[in-house]
Amino acid sequence: MTNPNRDRGDEWLERAACRAEHVDPEWFFSADKLERRWALEICGGCPVTLECLASDVDGLGIRGGLDLEENRRAARNARQRARRVRGGA
Ligand code: SF4
Repeated sequence: MTNPNRDRGDEWLERAACRAEHVDPEWFFSADKLERRWALEICGGCPVTLECLASDVDGLGIRGGLDLEENRRAARNARQRARRVRGGA
């Protein structure tokens, strides 16, 4: 699996830490604890974490400095907030 951010054309992706030559995109989806830790470290220091989280890129792995479970929780909270703002459930 590859990092979904890698091949997109968005301008902010030019500054994405995960696009650096020394970074293996597989780390962002890895089952290996050490590789996930490397990805989180890189991701946590990325200058475009907000743009990444606000983008429509699927949260299938580590992104925005958050791990998969944190990303799912953040997405769930954002959906609930959006429903409340729109007057839904
Ligand atoms: S926040 Fe993480 S996944 Fe998103 S662009 Fe930066 S390094 Fe890549």
